[in-house]
Amino acid sequence: MKLDLLVFAVHPDDAELSCGGILASEKAKGKNTGVIDLTRGELGTRGTPEIRKQEAAAAAKILQLDVRENLEMPDGFFKNDEENQRKVISAIRKYQPEVIFCNAPEDRHPDHGRSAMLVEDAAFLAGLRKIETSLNGTLQEVWRPKYVFNFIQDRYLTPNFVIDISDVIDQKIEAIKAYSTQFNSIDLAEPQTYISSPEFLESIIYRSKMFGKMIGVNYAEGFISKKMIGFNSFDAFIKLNT
Ligand SMILES: [Zn+2]
Repeated sequence: MKLDLLVFAVHPDDAELSCGGILASEKAKGKNTGVIDLTRGELGTRGTPEIRKQEAAAAAKILQLDVRENLEMPDGFFKNDEENQRKVISAIRKYQPEVIFCNAPEDRHPDHGRSAMLVEDAAFLAGLRKIETSLNGTLQEVWRPKYVFNFIQDRYLTPNFVIDISDVIDQKIEAIKAYSTQFNSIDLAEPQTYISSPEFLESIIYRSKMFGKMIGVNYAEGFISKKMIGFNSFDAFIKLNT
């Protein structure tokens, strides 16, 4: 299946927190969407890889993803090396996305920046004919996505563009809450963490409100692009007083 939009996120739940809105809103417009998690999040303080797998599947259902896979790299210790680049290259060639989203270039969790570098490198290399990868014994066609965007997660980074997600904010929050061991949890059997308090989830909503305010809508998500973004016409612009 060819995907219009494919997210590579290092931990299950990164995608929902940072670009769950755009995944939901593009799906509502008829696009094919997918998330590939690089690790199972096995170093997370709360929950287990098995529970997080179930939570990721539940969130995928809420966001109506066409594809959700896990590349099972080691959480915390994966490297931006040839072995892992080939895994990402193969996934890119399999789904031939026009646009890829990856983690923030720098963030509170050091995995995020390293994951972004890995995905950005692989996105370029996937277009090189002399790097051969195969899937089920068949040589894959080369494919280079047209854009690679970083999403913004924990630390504030200035976005290059923001997208209105006002119509799907409830769906985004519902998808985040599908990770019931991680967020908004008062389960005292497990230790409280930086992300498990209700305040953390509120901060995600505030961030969406702040990005929304920048363009005159209720909620938005912000993204970073190293490449200049081109438009066909002015019709794509939101024209509100800001
Ligand atoms: Zn993460």
